[in-house]
Amino acid sequence: MYEFAVAPAVTSIRRRGVEIAEVSPESIGFELELESGDRITKVNGRPVRDYLDFRFHTAGETELVMEVRKRSGEDWELQIERGEGEDFGLSFEQIVPRQCANECIFCFCNGNPADARPSLFIKDEDVRLSFLYGNYTTLTSITEDEMRRIVEQRLSPQYVSVHATDLDVRAYLLGIDKERADIAPKLQRLLDAGIQIHAQVVLCPGINDGDVLRKTIADLAAEFPRITSVAIVPLGLTRYNTDARLTAVTPDFCRQIINEVATIQSDLRRRLGTTFAFLGDEIYLRAGRAVPARTHYGDYPQIEDGIGMVRSFNNEFAALLKRIERRPVAQPEKLHGTMLTGTLFAPVLEPLIENLNARVGTRLSVAAVENKYFGGDVSVAGLLTGGDLVAAKEKLSGDFVIIPKSTLKSDEEIMLDGMTLEQLQVKLGLPVYPFDLKSFGQFLFRQN
Ligand code: SF4
Repeated sequence: MYEFAVAPAVTSIRRRGVEIAEVSPESIGFELELESGDRITKVNGRPVRDYLDFRFHTAGETELVMEVRKRSGEDWELQIERGEGEDFGLSFEQIVPRQCANECIFCFCNGNPADARPSLFIKDEDVRLSFLYGNYTTLTSITEDEMRRIVEQRLSPQYVSVHATDLDVRAYLLGIDKERADIAPKLQRLLDAGIQIHAQVVLCPGINDGDVLRKTIADLAAEFPRITSVAIVPLGLTRYNTDARLTAVTPDFCRQIINEVATIQSDLRRRLGTTFAFLGDEIYLRAGRAVPARTHYGDYPQIEDGIGMVRSFNNEFAALLKRIERRPVAQPEKLHGTMLTGTLFAPVLEPLIENLNARVGTRLSVAAVENKYFGGDVSVAGLLTGGDLVAAKEKLSGDFVIIPKSTLKSDEEIMLDGMTLEQLQVKLGLPVYPFDLKSFGQFLFRQN
């Protein structure tokens, strides 16, 4: 039986197997009369705990025995033959994340308003989600089962929040004892087994900067290329996180970090051929400095963690402009609307949109929206709420509003404060389009 990583905050009864969410027509699953709600409990005698297990146990197998608990309660045993690489046509329930047992002094959960959506308080710490989506884990409460599973199923890369290799500092930041905070043997075991690691440091002024940061980068770089990169991202404080141990990240602090780390980065590039230790975009923006050039980021190993997003956006926007010049937008003057974004990104977006207007003839404007919901130094677009966007109503001009797609849940048109896209449109009295750069480009070309 699979152990829980820690005692979960809310004990839920785990049912055996993985539940089928959908069966594609004309697929093997369909021919086998599998249905949504059925649970696959074993493949070739091996227990299936989630869809990663299913994928692992079925990979490369052309003859299988599958045990299924039908939603009616019946138990089936299916003997299956399939062609090499033939898909089962099954999609499965989402993985329910395991939760951490840390008390990080900077934990984002401490920065939520008390009435925030319950999902914002989930302290997920799950090596499966780390492998699938690049979520960070601290490895502090990883079980032996999970360690073995990472190695056996090659759940690589893993994304590990290291914060500091100085054990006293790491334990202090995570709010746990040194014995639990010490992940060196676990990291070594994963590295020796060929698991690739990307590391993260949440930079807290006065705690893990200076010599502690230099040591952290040096210790991690000593394991390159097995440890492939380190993302150094700034502490974010909302108005609810008032822990006296934390000091806010200021523009001066950002400038100092950029200067200190630039020297280390040059040395790493010379020795390793890669920047290796990357600073979060937010650090450059808050310092009022330009983000580094494309070559600084290599193949953008930490883009999901906000490293290199601005550079990549700038480059993709330039490519979009070139495409528009080859295939001009019809009646561009009709594209008259307002793009709302966070205060951090607005100064990046504004000159790009001015350039687009000047070259193409569109009439778009950019308005920076303050994040009053979280307050503090929260200024990224993705954390804007419906209430924040409504409060910016007087800044609107034109016939429509564009908001960052990242303000909505990935699977539902709802914002962090629970406002739906439809409610937002009613309150703003204009059509609202949630766009990323790709859908923005499609929107421009749709006008042709
Ligand atoms: S590991 Fe993450 S979720 Fe857990 S306490 Fe620390 S910051 Fe919060």
